Amino acid sequence: MHRKILKIDLETKKYDISEDSDLYTQWMGGTGAGIKLLNRECPKDIDPLDPQNPIIFNTGPLNGYFPVITKTVAMFKSPLTGNLGESHGGGRFFQGMNSAGFSSVIITGKAKKPCYICIYNNKVDIKEAGSIWGQSAPATERILREAEGGKGKLSIARIGPAGERLSRFACVTIDGSRHFGRLGIGAVFGSKNLKGLVIGGTTSLPVVNKKEYNKFYSEIYTEIKESTLMKKYHDYGTSVNVIPLSKIGGLPTRNFSQGYFEGSSQISGEKFASDYLIQHTACTHCPVGCIHIGKLREKFSEPCHYKTVKVSYDHELIYALGSNLSISYAPDILKLLDYIEKQGWDAISMGVTMAWATDAFLHGIITLKQTDLPLAFGDTSTYMEMMNRIATGYSEFYRDLEAGADYCGRKYGGLDLAICFGKNEAPGYMTGENTYLGFSVGIRHSHLDNASYSLDQKLLTTQMEEAKQVETLLLEERWRFILNSLVICLFAREIYKKDRVVKLLNLQGHSWDENSLDDLSKRIHMEKMAFKMANGFDPFSIDLPGKLYRVKSAGNYPAEESFKRKNKLYWEMAGVAGQK
Ligand code: SF4
Repeated sequence: MHRKILKIDLETKKYDISEDSDLYTQWMGGTGAGIKLLNRECPKDIDPLDPQNPIIFNTGPLNGYFPVITKTVAMFKSPLTGNLGESHGGGRFFQGMNSAGFSSVIITGKAKKPCYICIYNNKVDIKEAGSIWGQSAPATERILREAEGGKGKLSIARIGPAGERLSRFACVTIDGSRHFGRLGIGAVFGSKNLKGLVIGGTTSLPVVNKKEYNKFYSEIYTEIKESTLMKKYHDYGTSVNVIPLSKIGGLPTRNFSQGYFEGSSQISGEKFASDYLIQHTACTHCPVGCIHIGKLREKFSEPCHYKTVKVSYDHELIYALGSNLSISYAPDILKLLDYIEKQGWDAISMGVTMAWATDAFLHGIITLKQTDLPLAFGDTSTYMEMMNRIATGYSEFYRDLEAGADYCGRKYGGLDLAICFGKNEAPGYMTGENTYLGFSVGIRHSHLDNASYSLDQKLLTTQMEEAKQVETLLLEERWRFILNSLVICLFAREIYKKDRVVKLLNLQGHSWDENSLDDLSKRIHMEKMAFKMANGFDPFSIDLPGKLYRVKSAGNYPAEESFKRKNKLYWEMAGVAGQK
């Protein structure tokens, strides 16, 4: 770990390199160091699109040392929720930061004209991007790689047109097909006139005890290679969950109207793998290769024949653009995803927002007056046209759709049909009351915060006291703060258990034990809640979108009374109740 911080001000075009050993000693890195830096750098009450909103990238102390420790944490104030913005991205971004020699990169200010940043070792160049403003996210990568080629394996993060338009759920795309996806970091890039970031260098990581390091490395590598869980991720990826979820009534279908999707076998991981998969890829330093790329064969304009486009897919994308829109033809899902990828939207948010619009239209809450197009579930060409209208700013209604389902529900009505948690569009699980509780209390309102969907699936066959259920969610969330400070891909969470994490940290000269990790996880939680609550998040008023109480989730109706009781208990256990 380099323990160096690079801070770039786009307004003045100046940059500064500093060291802060205390920060990494006390807060480790990744999400831990990130939240300290966000609380330090982000002025209270600013608009998320204000130039002062910082974008903070953080690696962790084991990134680059051991396999599948491949993520980078991005932190910012979220344009989608108005509070904590935190997004985790893979690809080779962590390696770019390591090679450049930085553990944290902070970007503030707004460039006068469109620009991109090139960081190579200690040198920072802010370059003109006027000629690529408007380019799609994939095209931007090709152009920047060509322009900055010859400098080893650079990582390239960039926005598409959605980020330029300040869509509140625009993402940042990394390298081939990874993303800082959720909570609108793409709009923060756009608000700074920042089209992209190219990062790399020649700096090496120090190894403290080479002999022991080699021993641990081989042990972990072999375990990963032989793990059945890892094999599952390689063969089918997360989309292997589509059919089992549908069977238990846990696969959101037609805007969470039911949990069973009659077309699930046509859009399952197995179906994609047998008929459309053309490539597996991996983040740097990962032997698993869970990234699945499908082929989309499309008619090119006359008189040409066909073009083949590569599109990545996984469970969340199949749910958001498949079952939740009632689309059961896999190439149609790839077609929608290809459009989303080019624009640079978060795919979950786009799918859930279009599902809200369809539901609201079918309930007569919005009409042709707003849509100028009849909306129906299962109609791919209408969804393509909707996205086209959003991208071209066809009307006020279509421009509003870029602000997300919660925003539109408040403005046009049908808020109870806007399936969002903390204003963030829902992940692809309706596996019970705890699932929704986990999304609600989770710090990012993500399925990756505390795996609440997994707890509910266990409860289908086992009993657990209510307090124990809540505690399970809290402990899982807190342990993940440590994994996300390291910053480990959560697919490898079974490989990196607490005792092993302590050994690896000590091997690299960091002083942590199991107690100090527990203490750190609590401190991170409090720092994050302090940021969220200072920016308007009220944990005591959490409720579900009304529709979710009316629809069975894995066979049971969530109950308002027990949901609210568990929510209160969660915050009491977390020690947040006393702060109100
Ligand atoms: S398991 Fe998948 S997401 Fe995780 S590091 Fe490997 S390739 Fe990347």
